[in-house]
Amino acid sequence: MTSTNPKNFLDESEKQRVVAAIREAERQTSGEIRVHIVERAEGDTLETAKTVFEKLGMTATRERNGVLFFLSLKDHRFAVLGDSGIHEKVQGDFWDSIRDEMAGRFQGGQFVDGIVAGIRKCGEKLAEHFPRRDDDIDELPNEI
Ligand code: CA
Ligand code: CA
Repeated sequence: MTSTNPKNFLDESEKQRVVAAIREAERQTSGEIRVHIVERAEGDTLETAKTVFEKLGMTATRERNGVLFFLSLKDHRFAVLGDSGIHEKVQGDFWDSIRDEMAGRFQGGQFVDGIVAGIRKCGEKLAEHFPRRDDDIDELPNEI
């Protein structure tokens, strides 16, 4: 867990936990959640996260309801970014509360717990505003 190489940051079982949390969350919602980890963000973390968001094709969801958890290891920074469809539905303090919860766990060294907690919280909110439909498909891969 001390590695700042994005490939080794999470071991196989930790990755599985994160992917399972995403799958679980997406079972309740049409929203799409992704986790992306980099070694270092060049420049502003939020700006980099926005670029990654677009690069990953996350603006291509039907309801514009993708959420990106972006972690930059060497900067010890992270960002949680939602697409426009979500922004119309949630209050600004929703993102703060997710960030606070994650930051608290990160500070205690519980990185996987923090990510999983963020995903769960986000999934619950997405389910409220974007319930899963019968014809739902996995629009974005769940892998990290
Ligand atoms: Ca979906
Ligand atoms: Ca997905």
